[in-house]
Amino acid sequence: MSDAVMPDLAAVAPARAALTIRMHERDNVAIVANDGGLPPGAVLPNGLVLRDRVPQGHKVALVDLAAHAPVLRYGIPIGYALKDIPAGSWVHERLLKMPDARGLDNLPIATVKPEPLPALEGYTFEGFRNADGSVGTRNILAITTTVQCVAGVVEFAVQRIKAELLARYPNVDDVVGLEHTYGCGVAIDAPGAEIPIRTLRNISLNPNFGGEVMVVSLGCEKLQPERLMPPGTFAIVDERSVADVGATADQALDVVCLQDDAHIGFMSMVDSIMATAQLHLERLNARVRETVPASELVVGVQCGGSDAFSGVTANPAVGFCTDLLVRAGASVMFSETTEVRDGIDQLTSRATTPAVAEAMIREMAWYDAYLQRGKVDRSANTTPGNKKGGLSNIVEKAMGSIVKSGSAPISNVLAPGEKLKAKGLTYAATPASDFICGTLQLAAGMNLHVFTTGRGTPYGLAAVPVIKVATRSDLARRWHDLMDVNAGSIADGSASIEEVGWEMFRLMLEVASGRKKTWAEHWKLHNALVLFNPAPVT
Ligand code: CA
Repeated sequence: MSDAVMPDLAAVAPARAALTIRMHERDNVAIVANDGGLPPGAVLPNGLVLRDRVPQGHKVALVDLAAHAPVLRYGIPIGYALKDIPAGSWVHERLLKMPDARGLDNLPIATVKPEPLPALEGYTFEGFRNADGSVGTRNILAITTTVQCVAGVVEFAVQRIKAELLARYPNVDDVVGLEHTYGCGVAIDAPGAEIPIRTLRNISLNPNFGGEVMVVSLGCEKLQPERLMPPGTFAIVDERSVADVGATADQALDVVCLQDDAHIGFMSMVDSIMATAQLHLERLNARVRETVPASELVVGVQCGGSDAFSGVTANPAVGFCTDLLVRAGASVMFSETTEVRDGIDQLTSRATTPAVAEAMIREMAWYDAYLQRGKVDRSANTTPGNKKGGLSNIVEKAMGSIVKSGSAPISNVLAPGEKLKAKGLTYAATPASDFICGTLQLAAGMNLHVFTTGRGTPYGLAAVPVIKVATRSDLARRWHDLMDVNAGSIADGSASIEEVGWEMFRLMLEVASGRKKTWAEHWKLHNALVLFNPAPVT
């Protein structure tokens, strides 16, 4: 992949010189990098004169393209010319026919055997070690809910816990209600229902919550607490009880049931939640940060509000950082099935074993069928903002998205909502929807999130720090108090992909240690958890 992600930054000396970026030597289009785009008559570094105005991030034809000719970016056809396109023209989405999705048969299976990258040793962060071996980057009390009905009560109680209790527990960072729209009015035994259920279960066990599970239930809902957290799946390991019992003893699930006869009036429910919360806050407050190796990071990478720079600046820098993390022995997840579907052959060839490749194909096939049921395909992914930002279609978007996975071998695959079991690079199958992908990566056990954006989004999560990376300097300047890293410096020519990748890696260790807060944490910008429910509602 490395030859496909090294942008060929072509600049000439004069002020406001035309700046174009071509991703691969075979490409017959390049994107315009200049803020504000370029006017007709502008002369490109190779001497070509623009025939049209080309907006920033949009493509210009570098040669005459005959009708039906492939338009190549990242070295692959991102579309076919619908008519003759002379050199110097703006190549926009209306001039392109999108290629069909590649079939899922006859794929290259585990064919690429990259040289093992040298181990990266000696990097550490300060984290909260949990009894199950996982490490938190924050110390948060999570209140799990079985059903949306209780959300208002839980939110009321959370506000009171913050106002009245939290100051007494200085080692606890926050209290969050795990509210969602699931739990009742759903076909709970339908195939696919296990996805939202296991997602919610595994989120409750996220390393940032320290194993302190408490549940608020209504009472009559379909998703009963013992179905959400069956005995054995949730093993709170209290060090004292382990010492006493001599084994991992399951604690009884701590449930506040609002319909319980004991509750007389609303305040009785709130008091009961607060009293239960207090027991967990006391135990969480006893947690202290300790020095742990960087291999304890579990990083989920994602993009949202993408533009043509995403795949040129921010995502390649994330890819470089992904390789650093894998070299340090950490866990990295990339996801967003519709945004990697068009690069399936790159992924299956990078699988460490045929079983890993087959698992990827299984997840892609499942998602193809899921989309087909709604009579759409992966092309339903792209947004008006993506197109305005220069991305003509999902093929072009996918080629820019997939580079977040770097170049390491892919050693593990997760179905939606599953919990990560192995270190290294994992394909965690999720929809590309920012909130659903983030929710599923939380369930997988993510303790740090990296999110790239070109159009700009204030995205954040309550449960883990989200490091946001701008693809363009213009966005980084305007959103100076929302973006944590500016990868636009790569397009400006003032930093390399490697430099920005290292900057991210070092920032991750600072943020994971609690020494730095991300902008989303600073402003407390939290998107809702959105459970992926492919099953019917009733
Ligand atoms: Ca996304």
